[in-house]
Amino acid sequence: MEKMENKNFMSWLDNMQLNHPLVIAGPCSAETESQMLEIAHELKNTDATVFRAGVWKPRTRPGSFEGNGAKALPWLQKVKEETGLLTAVEIANAQHAKLALEFDIDILWIGARTTVNPFAVQEIAEAIRDTEKIVLVKNPINPDLALWIGAIERLHKMGVKNLGAIHRGFSSFRKSSYRNIPSWQIPIDLKNKYPSIPMINDPSHICGNREGIFDVSQTALDLNFDGLMIETHCHPDEAWSDASQQIIPGRLVEIMDELRVRKESFVKEESVSKLNAFRNEINVKDDQLLETLSERMQIVENIGKAKKESNVAVLQNTRWQEILQKVVDKGEEQGLSKRFIEKIFKAIHQESIAHQEKIIKG
Ligand code: PEP
Ligand code: MN
Repeated sequence: MEKMENKNFMSWLDNMQLNHPLVIAGPCSAETESQMLEIAHELKNTDATVFRAGVWKPRTRPGSFEGNGAKALPWLQKVKEETGLLTAVEIANAQHAKLALEFDIDILWIGARTTVNPFAVQEIAEAIRDTEKIVLVKNPINPDLALWIGAIERLHKMGVKNLGAIHRGFSSFRKSSYRNIPSWQIPIDLKNKYPSIPMINDPSHICGNREGIFDVSQTALDLNFDGLMIETHCHPDEAWSDASQQIIPGRLVEIMDELRVRKESFVKEESVSKLNAFRNEINVKDDQLLETLSERMQIVENIGKAKKESNVAVLQNTRWQEILQKVVDKGEEQGLSKRFIEKIFKAIHQESIAHQEKIIKG
């Protein structure tokens, strides 16, 4: 078999001959046949090429709507017949996989809760061995690049040729304005390892709300993502799952109109494209710096609480001197000047003291 590094995974997407990023749209869940057809007809003359709908829904707790199961697969077929949209469904085990093939669904995707489990992925890979269907692998819920790559490799080993990845953000214990933190470096690292893998962004599950969809989509396109998967529903507030993040088809059209598409190959001038790529990398690093600073501050606050409980003073000068010396030494080893490191860490330290004082006085 051709080595994965040498394979061109882009061919299924190139064959679609789109002059814009791939758009996969449709509801979180297939609720009823009429709900599906209503959405699909509104998506028919938009940038959407693929209609998505979850038929088996992995829900965090029992008792929520867990999908209509196989009875919704003919509804997807009807969507295709009536609108010409390609169809996509989430599969989570071998039985789902077989049914999706039996009903001739065009694109199968493996959800975040399944990618985490190598047994489930292996079982699916064996059930769809040698399929010509397009198979997309969402990132695992935890920020583990190797697990994501492993799932894609398992499918490739079983002869699945038309592969792609979906970045839907990562779950975190930490408080965040995202439902799932994007941690952009991880999909970028996947792209660096397998540059031809089509990389699709799912801003809906990253944001968990409607308001953030545009910005996250723009960042994804700035980072040369190849497509977007956006949950779309004609009556989002009444949706049976993920009501708060679904948008109406009309909003999807607006978003697609407003997005600046900066796909590398669309940019005429090579140097501009290079400069943009570097700027986007800087944006990602800045996001990481902010994430790290905020994580550091949360630990500092926990220390503040502990100090309050045991009635210890906020400032412990010897500990601070130790930290400063250590970071100056490490920084110099990495080509950063003493003056710069001292300045930054003094500022961080001041902010930390301010946070702790607030806790101790609070
Ligand atoms: C979905 O796409 O509706 C879904 C369940 O997503 P994820 O696997 O990313 O949670
Ligand atoms: Mn959903």
